[in-house]
Amino acid sequence: MTHPHGTHNAGQVTLSLVIPVFNEEDSLDGFLARIQQVFQHEVLIDLELVFVNDGSSDATLERLLQRQQSDARLRIVDLSRNFGKEAALSAGLQIATGQIVVPIDVDLQDPPEVILAMIARWREGYEVVLGHRVSRRSDTWAKQTSAHWFYRLHNKIAEQPLPENVGDFRLMDRCVVDALLTLPESRRFMKGLFAWVGFRTTHVDYERPERLTGQSKFNGWRLWNFALEGITSFSTEPLRVWTYLGACVSLVSFAFAMFIVVRTLIHGVDMPGYASLMVAVTFLGGLQLIGIGVLGEYLGRTYIESKRRPVFLVRRVYDPKD
Ligand code: UDP
Ligand code: MG
Repeated sequence: MTHPHGTHNAGQVTLSLVIPVFNEEDSLDGFLARIQQVFQHEVLIDLELVFVNDGSSDATLERLLQRQQSDARLRIVDLSRNFGKEAALSAGLQIATGQIVVPIDVDLQDPPEVILAMIARWREGYEVVLGHRVSRRSDTWAKQTSAHWFYRLHNKIAEQPLPENVGDFRLMDRCVVDALLTLPESRRFMKGLFAWVGFRTTHVDYERPERLTGQSKFNGWRLWNFALEGITSFSTEPLRVWTYLGACVSLVSFAFAMFIVVRTLIHGVDMPGYASLMVAVTFLGGLQLIGIGVLGEYLGRTYIESKRRPVFLVRRVYDPKD
């Protein structure tokens, strides 16, 4: 099926892979071998490999520089410290030059051969082709369940829904990348930004395999913070909820007060209930603390954004020529 708005050029195309790496010295060789295997016969695709070294403390950078000696497709951005995957992706997108750009993990959890299927859809005229995981079997039960609830909650309250079971692995046309680069915020929840910019979108399905070497850098606490980041980046609903909750609680308290007045009028003065009093006080105290916490979360974000600090700092860009 061809997209009604016309197709992309069927000829030669430049493709940039953006690969954030953080302590991945053991994954590099396997990744590059797979890339070689998948793309060696693709004469229509000019490949550029943009590695973003996100402050690795192992030999990742040295290995990359070594590989670059014999492979002029490698470009390496060395960040000044670990800024996190979101910032590293932003750095890579900024220097990628391809007509189409695909962010991909180095651990081969995003199978490179899927990119060929994505390019086929792009040639049909789509500007974004999402890599859609048909199953999350390689993830733990806890990760699957928490992810599911995160998407349900996020999509209920955010303006622009996030597609479920879709990660950063996706094909983007040059126009999409340029649009992303114009977004000014410094706290960058990429999945949300990707969804927010829109464009003609389709997806290809793939099975997400397990990580080959090394370990996942995202543990439970980091994922929890990531989820908070996502929700507070794209919705102010948590701020408004307190207005309604407050109104409801006040209403109930008022009804309860009326009830006590009436009961006192009919039955005379009663022994005051210490337990119910304590429950009411602690309950309201807790509610108020949560409310203040949510306010603080947003105030903090405004504070960080108001500094207008850069998203990442580059120590050096290594291009094959130099
Ligand atoms: N990564 C990064 N900076 C970080 C954490 C991760 O650049 O602070 C990179 C990592 O090297 C890998 C990709 O992001 O290429 C995905 O990381 P990981 O496989 O740990 O995440 P998961 O697949 O468990 O979500
Ligand atoms: Mg992984």
